[in-house]
Amino acid sequence: MNAVVVKDLVKKYGRLVAVKGISFSFSEGMIYGLIGPNGAGKSTTLRILATLLEPTSGEAKIFGLNVKKDKDKIRKIIGYLPEEAGGYKYLTGYEYLEMNAKIYSPDNYGEVLEYGALLTGLGDRLYDRIGSYSKGMIRRLLLARALMNKPRLAILDEPTAGLDVIHATQIRRMIKNMVNEGVTILLSSHNMLEVQFLCDELSLINNGEIVAQGTPEDILKDTGTDNLEDAFMRLVGNE
Ligand code: ATP
Repeated sequence: MNAVVVKDLVKKYGRLVAVKGISFSFSEGMIYGLIGPNGAGKSTTLRILATLLEPTSGEAKIFGLNVKKDKDKIRKIIGYLPEEAGGYKYLTGYEYLEMNAKIYSPDNYGEVLEYGALLTGLGDRLYDRIGSYSKGMIRRLLLARALMNKPRLAILDEPTAGLDVIHATQIRRMIKNMVNEGVTILLSSHNMLEVQFLCDELSLINNGEIVAQGTPEDILKDTGTDNLEDAFMRLVGNE
């Protein structure tokens, strides 16, 4: 079954066309990447899929549900990691997870909370206030929140942005493991090398348009390169 189908999606902010009619789709059980430089339109696309932003035109479906008409149903089956960390700095990490588990998984919140606490890997620091956390700790907490109820689709906006190599590696491993728990993953990144290792398939996006699509191997083959950074440079004509 297709987890996500996006067709001719357009998003305008006033006169600026941030997403210029992109299309992509992928199956359940995959890790799919939207990859591109700053301002390419990745976050905009992910926010539309998370039902937080209305598309200007075009279509987007998640497990057959329409982002315009089925917002409530979609929100029940997705987990979303926003690019920017939110507030809540006066709560402890544990309280933050507990609050979310109670809101989004009222029927089995104890179980969800326990799993979320484990996913953070924060140990005793989970009981400290979020305001005292490093950037990497906040990222882990938010990622655990997005994954703790094992959503059918996790939408992760730049999951490793700003993290050092150790924490980025831990997060990549956590994302890979979630697939074995039945979670399909859609993520964005501007780290092309990371994506080459993590994603089964991807769309390379530049300036609101898709410039290449397929498995990392296909894209390397088509561009005659051996890494996605070189492939990207070749495709956008800067080389
Ligand atoms: P980054 O990697 O820098 O986060 P991105 O690929 O996620 O980039 P978007 O955040 O989707 O890109 O932005 C695409 C374009 O839309 C950019 O030119 C950005 O300035 C613009 N944009 C994004 N959000 C808004 C907004 N709320 N109002 C006006 N313009 C916006």
